Amino acid sequence: MLRGEFFLSVFLYYSFTFVIFVVSSFRFFSFSALCLSFMNKFFQLTRMAFAYKRAQPVLKHPPYMFSIEATNICNYKCSFCPQSDPAHAARRTQGQLSTEGMKCFLDRVVESGTSNRNISICLDGEPTINKHLPQFVRLINDYGFSPRFSSNGRLLDQNLAEALISAGPFLASIDFASQPSYFEQVRGREGDFSRILDQLRYLIDQARLNRNIRLEVVDTSVFSGADPEASLRAMTALLADGQTLPSNVKTWSRQFHNFCGHLDSADGDSYKVCPYPWSQFVVTWDGFAVACCRDTAGRTVLGNVFESPVMQIWNSPQYQQFRRSLAQHRPQDVPACRGCDMPYSGRSSRWRLGYITQSLRRR
Ligand code: SF4
Ligand code: SF4
Repeated sequence: MLRGEFFLSVFLYYSFTFVIFVVSSFRFFSFSALCLSFMNKFFQLTRMAFAYKRAQPVLKHPPYMFSIEATNICNYKCSFCPQSDPAHAARRTQGQLSTEGMKCFLDRVVESGTSNRNISICLDGEPTINKHLPQFVRLINDYGFSPRFSSNGRLLDQNLAEALISAGPFLASIDFASQPSYFEQVRGREGDFSRILDQLRYLIDQARLNRNIRLEVVDTSVFSGADPEASLRAMTALLADGQTLPSNVKTWSRQFHNFCGHLDSADGDSYKVCPYPWSQFVVTWDGFAVACCRDTAGRTVLGNVFESPVMQIWNSPQYQQFRRSLAQHRPQDVPACRGCDMPYSGRSSRWRLGYITQSLRRR
């Protein structure tokens, strides 16, 4: 059955490629380029899905999602985040990604042959602390990728916003909330709700004029037990300030995970094999490939991208063992996965097709 599906997807891929080749000969070049890029993505995702379904430890496809950390230093210590744990800072050397480091990473991504054009600048820490952030955005655009980063928004003032805008298209995902009291209590700093609200409104005004700016404002109020829909409506109204938000500005509610054991989580849910070892490639500011986007403490190191090509790390003995452990229901054998709620969240909505499709689109 699986083999049949594989050959069907290969057949579909080459049939579409042939049709696109014919169409391109009629000079619909940009349309055919778009179709080819879509087909390449489809083919890579199909290969990834089969490898995951079969729990293959060695992969022919490159990672689908690439992420690199700008810094592991943060200006907040949010109670839901491992940054609030006094022991967290000592778990990894603190530092910042250089532009040379970013270039080396991008060269490696190109060499891997991935079809996904999105590059995320995030893992631990706050990327706006790194003064090179606008240069990173420019570099990623110059390499033909789409940059995106997550931020707490505190340092995103007009100067930084303008530097980012002049660096080319980007997507910024910014945490916010509907209630000042909750926000300032969790982030631990008074007065920041109104400061960030003003900065977000400025960015939204810029986004009305410039479609290159894409914003996602994420409501974190769910952490306080707030009703997600009512809170999201309230936050969206605050941001819109009596107008309608433009289509390049989206709002959504954060679904929390337990940050590799930082937060308590209910046990006993059914086991699901975590898909990240088959899909994500996440790198720290100093080049180390770690388990996934949740491994902010760098508990599981799988190689260093400043020293080795992506595909060599992706199929290294460490990566193969990582995949085997999760496939054999032994997350406790992987330091990063030991306390993580992902493998035991089999009944959660994050396994629904709609949620997975949305996540893949965002990455
Ligand atoms: S959640 Fe983000 S802003 Fe808050 S402490 Fe963690 S890294 Fe910093
Ligand atoms: S089980 Fe958790 S820590 Fe391990 S790869 Fe999956 S999400 Fe990451």
